[in-house]
Order: sequence, then C-alpha cells, then structure tokens
Amino acid sequence: MSYEVVVVGGGIGGLTTAALLAARGVNVCLFEKESWAGGCAAAEERHGYRFEPGAGLYALWQPGELHERVFAELPVAAPDVRQVSPPYVVRLPDATEVNVGGSDAEFESQLRQAFPECAAAAVAFYREMAPVAAALHRAARRIPDLPHASRLQRIKLAASEPRAAPHILARSSDTAARHLQQTSSRFRRFIDAQLQIFAQCASGECAYLYSAVALCLPRREMYAIRGGGAALADILIESIKSSGGTVRLDTPVLRLACDAGGRAFGVDLLSGEAVTATRAIVSNLTVWDTYGKLVGLNRTPADVRARLKTLRGWGTYLIYVGADEEVCARLSAERVLALTDWQDAGPEFNPEHSLFMFSVAPAWDRRAPSGKRAATISTFTEPEQWFTFHRGETEHEEQDQAALEAWWGRLHAALPELGSGVEVIETATPRTFYERTRRKLGMVGGVGQSLGLFGTNSLAHRTAVPNLYMVGDTTFPGQGVAAVTHSALIVANKIAPPTG
Ligand SMILES: Cc1cc2nc3c(=O)[nH]c(=O)nc-3n(C[C@H](O)[C@H](O)[C@H](O)COP(=O)(O)OP(=O)(O)OC[C@H]3O[C@@H](n4cnc5c(N)ncnc54)[C@H](O)[C@@H]3O)c2cc1C
Repeated sequence: MSYEVVVVGGGIGGLTTAALLAARGVNVCLFEKESWAGGCAAAEERHGYRFEPGAGLYALWQPGELHERVFAELPVAAPDVRQVSPPYVVRLPDATEVNVGGSDAEFESQLRQAFPECAAAAVAFYREMAPVAAALHRAARRIPDLPHASRLQRIKLAASEPRAAPHILARSSDTAARHLQQTSSRFRRFIDAQLQIFAQCASGECAYLYSAVALCLPRREMYAIRGGGAALADILIESIKSSGGTVRLDTPVLRLACDAGGRAFGVDLLSGEAVTATRAIVSNLTVWDTYGKLVGLNRTPADVRARLKTLRGWGTYLIYVGADEEVCARLSAERVLALTDWQDAGPEFNPEHSLFMFSVAPAWDRRAPSGKRAATISTFTEPEQWFTFHRGETEHEEQDQAALEAWWGRLHAALPELGSGVEVIETATPRTFYERTRRKLGMVGGVGQSLGLFGTNSLAHRTAVPNLYMVGDTTFPGQGVAAVTHSALIVANKIAPPTG
C-alpha cells in the first residue's frame, strides 16, 4: 500500500498529527500496534471501573487556546471538558495544604500563611514568573516551533515583547533553583513537588523558563475531559476516518524502510507487509524507540547515539483504587499532590519514595459502580529496577506487592481522612507500561526539562533521517496531552502547512 504520510503509533501525538493532516487533505495512514489507541492516555477498565492512568488534569482547553484551534480544523466536535477548580492542592509533610487555584490575591495569601518564614520571597518568586510565562505562551502561539524559529522570527518576537524579551533572555540559562535562593527549604520542596510532576525534574535541574510555564499553567485554568484522555483518542480516530484517512489498529510497525541514500520511504510491518509513504513518515514513538527500533542503532548517527545515552526518563508505579463517595467528599480537592518527606538532607530532590498524586475522577463523569469513585495514585519509580534480576513473573509480582504495601502505608499516613474507604483494584508498573506502549523501560512523561533539553536544546521534530519526523512527549515542548498536541501541530505544519 502507498500513502502520502504514514504515522507510526496512535498516542495522542500521532493521532492529532494524523487528524490534522487528514483534515488538510493529506492521504494519511496511522498504524497502532494495540487494538486500542491512546497509548499512555488509554483507560484501564477493571471490575466496573474506568481509570485514567494519570491525574486527568488537562491544560489549554479554554476558548481560543490550543485545543480549540486544533478542533477548529477537524470535522468532529471536541470532547466535553469542564474546568477543574481547584486544579490540585499540595499537601506538605507537616500537613500544610496549599491550593494552587484561586485569584492571585488568594493564592498569595495562602503562600504567606503556608511559608511565613519566607513569605515575601515566595510571593516574589511567583510574581516574577507570571509575566515570563505569559510572554512565552504568547510567543508559542505565534510560532509553535519556537526553539527553531528563524533569526527574523526571533527579532520580530523580541520586538513584540519589549518588556518581557530582555527578562526572558537574561534567564535562559538559569535553573529554577537559582531563583529560589531567598526562599526556605520548605518552599523549595513545594516547588520541587510540582516541577517533578510537570517537568519530570526538580528545581535543581529544571530550566527556569520551563518552570515558569509549568507552574503558571495550573494557575490559569485546568480541565477534566469526559471519558478522560481515552475519549479524546476515540474522537481523533473518528476525525481521521471522516477526513478520509486510515487507522489500522493491531498493526505493529517493525522498522523504517530507507533507500540507499538513507532517505526514509516507508515502513515494514511486523506482518511482512511493506507500506510506502510518498511525503513523510511520522514516528509517535519515544526518541529512544524511534532510533533504537524504527531507524535501527546501526543507522543512527554517532552524535545522536551519544545524546540518547544521556537522556533519562522516569517510570511510574500506579495504584488504581475504588474510593467511597463520602471519602472523596472529605478531601479538600479531587487532586492532592502529597509530599511525604521534606528530604532536608541536601538540595537534591528524589521523588521515588516521597511524592504521589491522588486523583479522583470527576463526579459528573461516572466511571465507577454506584457509591464509588475511580481514583488513581501515581508515583515515580526508577524504571530499570523493574526489568533487571527478574527470573520469572513471580519476582515481578513480589516487587509489585512490596511497592503496593509501602505506598499504601504512605498514602494513609499522608491522607488519613481516607480511612478504610479505599480499596485496591489494580496496579501498574513500568513493565505494564512497556507491555502496553513498548516505550523503552516503560518510561513515561518524556524527558526531564533540564537546561540541556529545554528550548534550543530540545529534541527536534525533524530527525537525523530525511523524511522522518518525531511527535510526542519526548520532543518539544514536552509531556502532557497539551504538549503532545502542540508537537503534533508543529509536525503537521511542517509536512502540510494549513492553507488560508
Ligand atoms: C501516570 C501518568 C499520568 C499522566 N497524567 C497526565 C495528566 O494528568 N494530564 C496530561 O495532560 N498528561 C498526563 N500524562 C502524560 C500524557 O498522557 C502523555 O504525555 C501523552 O499521552 C503521551 O502521548 P504520546 O503521543 O507521546 O505517545 P504515547 O502515549 O507513548 O503513544 C505511543 C503509541 O505508539 C504505539 N506504538 C509503539 N510502538 C509501536 C509500533 N512499533 N508500531 C505501532 N504502534 C506502536 C503505542 O502502543 C502507543 O499507543 C500522564 C502520563 C502518565 C504516564
């Protein structure tokens, strides 16, 4: 078979790219190895529950924002979304809670109360970030592929932001930690916990400019999607098909087909079928898997191979629980980001045993048996440990059980109001994610947004192989449904810019 564009992988990034291209009249075919699409965002259905794998917190669904602009091009209606208020609260080890929503005045008043030891510095930290985040957001709207803007585009952008541009440039080589020097270690941990969730690294590593966007986004507006990310995936499939595109589920792609000059011209499927793409191939696999599996390490340039070795991601350990309705009502928010240990021995932060997000599905979107709510507890884990030294399935199960017991204790210590009103329905380890998505070591959430990976250092959508593009959470601008949608827009614009 021959198409203009072949997309490998049906995560939100691949689906959105295919939907946009199909809507722009491109003959596109998407291959997904599973019998469902959605990848990391796909739902887990068990015993009458439908769980979202993550926090179910989605950015940029407000009018005029990214998702509205994408759906304006598609022949389908956007999913039903509702604002989540507050987006989440952060609960600290001393049980102090900070609600990250509300007006600036309310938020600042909370910061002063929660961090009296550095109130002015904490408020100043957020005040300094807000205009930076707003200017970066405006810039990315104007030029989606911001890191690769031409010199002329940069000059024009700087001219349009005369106040913010010098401020941004002066901070482009800073980590977030550099701007936290006047704050207490408690406040720094409050920031670390949030950055770990949104940037996959803490303040010591995280690029200041990324941290500004990541910390200010939830302060603007966050949404829940009816049916979760899985519903978005289903709608995108419908969109691809109604624009005349093709979606082939249960169809693993084995490798890229390249001509003698190294230019990609198609893919070979695991079934033995060869498919050609006359215009482009888009990989929705992670950067490790795009090169390691599709391209093949022997065809990967040495500099790219060297860079891949330096990139790391986190695994996740998830506990899917059924929670009594009345227990959920006792929580101060549907999402609690809990830090269980101050880690005050040094500046570095390790989320592995001391950070979790407890997220309850929205009350207006029934995903559980009567009287219950579906809830997900997401934690960070070093992925390698789930793959090494396993001589059989039993060892994996034992490790899973040990992690469950440890987290169950931490969960009840941090959220005592849960009492006996929660029961474990299922767990997921990095091996589960590997089996579902084939992401290397089951690593999820993209790559940590350190200075070496942010902005002009971010992984480009154009790869080292002519005709092959990458889309998804290991490329710019990073992880999350909004970010991979943004990356899809960039790739679709490169292959077939919108007309008119
Ligand atoms: C625990 C957790 C919580 C999260 N919480 C949130 C949240 O609250 N809000 C938010 O916005 N984001 C959240 N995210 C992040 C978000 O879900 C991801 O960033 C996003 O879904 C990743 O999409 P992607 O396009 O990069 O691809 P992926 O989801 O990785 O999809 C890639 C697809 O490619 C397929 N594939 C792989 N190999 C092949 C092959 N050889 N042939 C064919 N197909 C193949 C896979 O099966 C998969 O479907 C969370 C993620 C996790 C893991």
